Amino acid sequence: MEDVLKKYNFTFKKRYGQNFITDLNLLDAIAADAGAEGRRVLEIGAGAGALTRALSKRAERVLAYEIDPALRPVLAETLAGCENTEVVFRDFLREDMAAVERELGGDYVVAANLPYYVTTPVIMRFAEESEGCRLLTVMVQAEVADRLCAKEGTKEYGAITAAIARRGTCKILRQVSRNLFTPRPNVDSAVVQLDFRTGGFSVKDEEMFRRTVRCAFQNRRKTLKNNLMSAFSLTRESAEELLARLELPADVRGEALSPHCLGALSDLLSE
Ligand code: SAM
Repeated sequence: MEDVLKKYNFTFKKRYGQNFITDLNLLDAIAADAGAEGRRVLEIGAGAGALTRALSKRAERVLAYEIDPALRPVLAETLAGCENTEVVFRDFLREDMAAVERELGGDYVVAANLPYYVTTPVIMRFAEESEGCRLLTVMVQAEVADRLCAKEGTKEYGAITAAIARRGTCKILRQVSRNLFTPRPNVDSAVVQLDFRTGGFSVKDEEMFRRTVRCAFQNRRKTLKNNLMSAFSLTRESAEELLARLELPADVRGEALSPHCLGALSDLLSE
């Protein structure tokens, strides 16, 4: 891979989060973890195509996005012969999610070594907008992995944790040393898997759930009651009544509520 990058005078761009993985065993393990076998796979950030190739070997079809057109000749060479693989040279975050899902044409899995600067918006897109995504297996910074899978009441628990928990389960599959990336980043990483097939729950109104979650984590030093009063223009009495209906103490803080409890609160707010 390094030879191909050199051949096309490729220079790594920090602004695109370009830290590539070269360890073939690790890439193959990620492709296996991702459940790519016989599936439609969406990859975000093909880079030099090392993970794309590993996915292509297992998948029915791979649709990969890459923002950097300088990688076009590199990918043409590294993915030569991968007939089931297509690379789209566009910013994934600017794509219409429904159109991407139509293109994939049914259930699919996501695999990515995510560019660090867009980790949260990419994951939020799947948690909030995807319909056909079943599994999402992504490399993220180790500290972000802890936030995605956090338990309520911990300092890592936040809005993204609750958004993911509404859709399914989250677990850390493997820790990955920074030494396995080129160029070497300043932090270690972890592979996280979001499984949207199990463990999620439904709410009456998804937009209300988002507002409730935003409100719960808006100002962590304030009580949930105060955050509710300002976010939903509630009187003290009605905010206290809502908390009492959920058998929560009046001085509870938002981060103490489990994702399910936030769902129940959002259902009461949508009544
Ligand atoms: N998959 C390769 C690997 O594992 O070695 C590359 C991973 S690298 C961390 C992230 C890649 O995502 C880079 O090639 C970068 O150019 C690309 N990228 C960054 N932002 C993107 C975006 N918004 N849409 C699509 N690709 C993006």
